[in-house]
Amino acid sequence: MKRWIDVIILIILIILILPSLLVLIFSKRSPDAPPPHVNSYHEGDRIEVKESHINYQEPTITLYNHYTKTLESMPMEEYVVGVVAAEMPSAFEMEALKAQAVAARTLAARKLRSKGGSGCTKHKGADVCSQFNHCQAWIPESQQRKNWGDKYEENRKRIQQAVQETRGYIITYEGKPIEVFFYSTSNGKTEDVAEVFSASLPYYKVVESPGEEDAPRYRETFSFTYDEFIRIFRSKYPNSDLSAANLERQIEILSWTDSGRVRDLRVGNTRIKATEFRSLYGLNSTDFTFRFDQGKVYIDTTGYGHGVGMSQIGANAMAREGKDYRDILKHYYTGVEIQILP
Ligand SMILES: [Zn+2]
Repeated sequence: MKRWIDVIILIILIILILPSLLVLIFSKRSPDAPPPHVNSYHEGDRIEVKESHINYQEPTITLYNHYTKTLESMPMEEYVVGVVAAEMPSAFEMEALKAQAVAARTLAARKLRSKGGSGCTKHKGADVCSQFNHCQAWIPESQQRKNWGDKYEENRKRIQQAVQETRGYIITYEGKPIEVFFYSTSNGKTEDVAEVFSASLPYYKVVESPGEEDAPRYRETFSFTYDEFIRIFRSKYPNSDLSAANLERQIEILSWTDSGRVRDLRVGNTRIKATEFRSLYGLNSTDFTFRFDQGKVYIDTTGYGHGVGMSQIGANAMAREGKDYRDILKHYYTGVEIQILP
């Protein structure tokens, strides 16, 4: 009888212990399995990063560095880090930084001479130059250190992450890199490219760009004395009939674009495009109105930049709403695809 009891106890023990033993034995990692956290990008990007590793042949880019006035060759992704560092505040949301990285890479991809691009048309032998008003801004690591001071490590890491997580990706339309335009702050809408650069491109439509009202340069006022205003105008139009006594009646906005920006205006006997007027007076944008008070002209502007394509402040607002960099780019560039640089 006692022997039976022993057997039953033994069976119960086996039933209780065996599953734990099995789990212990089979949960051991095979020595060939990769260690955890290799390529541990954000979960959502895992497939994308894998794809880019397979398809992306990172090109070398030749840059005209206007700080040293020399040509420098470097891997594309290293170049893009220097562009994002120059073009967007590093404190912006990660998805906005990623959208900027893809835009920067796209602009460079289109100019790459090894891919049939024109290169920088100002500096012979360069694919791109580092001048913001020609190709796009780029700053060397030494300048990044200077700009960021003791935040250098932290900021650089954020920008490297944005570049790494979009590695190889560009914006395309019908399989080709698009002509990229971006700027700081919109007036609530983007501008049709034809209003600014007199070229029609199908991926630039007027779209809403909300959430920018709190940006530092969303609304600004420029003021000129009547005499200053006339002097500036005559520097370009010496035969202008402007006069301080009559100025208020001599300025008239003639038409607006679909995005609410000024298209053209009359200043004295001259009809002038708003884009030209903006650059003549150094205004933030072509969304402006006039006020006249006690011998001064006040020009109130909304937004900062030409308004074509992605607004950086708008991209940051979208990122804060939970949109990712693809949503952001596809919002500002109509009908485009995001794909690996072929
Ligand atoms: Zn250039």
